[in-house]
Amino acid sequence: MCEHHAMRPESADGDAVLGQLPQGALVNIDKLDRRALIRALATGSLVVLASSCATNPETGRSQFTGLASEQMMAAMALQSWEELRQTTPAWRNPRAQARLANVGQQIALAANRPADPWEFVVFDSDELNAFVLPGGKVGFYRGLMEIAERDDHIATVVGHEVGHVTGRHAAERFSQAMAAQGLMIGAQLGSRDMDPQTRSIALGALGLGATVGLLLPFSRLQEAEADRLGVDYMYRAGYDVRETISFWRRMNELNDGPRPPSLLSTHPDPSQRVQDLRNYINTRGYALV
Ligand SMILES: [Zn+2]
Repeated sequence: MCEHHAMRPESADGDAVLGQLPQGALVNIDKLDRRALIRALATGSLVVLASSCATNPETGRSQFTGLASEQMMAAMALQSWEELRQTTPAWRNPRAQARLANVGQQIALAANRPADPWEFVVFDSDELNAFVLPGGKVGFYRGLMEIAERDDHIATVVGHEVGHVTGRHAAERFSQAMAAQGLMIGAQLGSRDMDPQTRSIALGALGLGATVGLLLPFSRLQEAEADRLGVDYMYRAGYDVRETISFWRRMNELNDGPRPPSLLSTHPDPSQRVQDLRNYINTRGYALV
């Protein structure tokens, strides 16, 4: 059980809450601990949510992702990615596209996920930004590619984005947001006739909430986890992890300039991040930085 997200609604009557659940809402019911359920009914806590935690083998961390499967998030993401591809032009620079695709494949292999349907695309925009959607759709903007002098710099960003995927951060974010709203989801999960509120939370969790007015940034914990996973993948793939530090320092410098990287606006506290990364790289013995 992941105690961080166990829920205890103020005025909940356990029987009533469970009685309202739509068919199919009891995710992981086979894992339901009956004694815990009885105890929860007695105390009025909502054990259904708390019991749908899972340990992520990649991180060893217990996560509350029970309201969204990876498959559901990937299906939602694919739909959004296709819309994005149609509305945002890709950069007509085959060398840059090949460079990103090559680094992306190396990192996916290092993350033990070579068979996922990865796609790596450089979009034609000045922005210093990159993003990832569940299921392995990674978008880079031209602006960021132009300042990435070395493949190690591209690997820094791709490693981080792939870390969000293997860390199952979107499903976690979605589940937390749904639970926070007291929402339960049933059989319509992931289908096209998902109700509008669920859909807008799902888009927010994918990081595409700007279109529906709901942005759900990754948490500090998720960002730090993606950073650490990214460095692990870089190291395994043979990239120079010391360049991670140079890259983030450069981004921090640009943050004071006329064109601050939008990547940093969704990834706060840059100097703390550099410090944490240095500690991690040194502790793991990847390099001395
Ligand atoms: Zn991130």
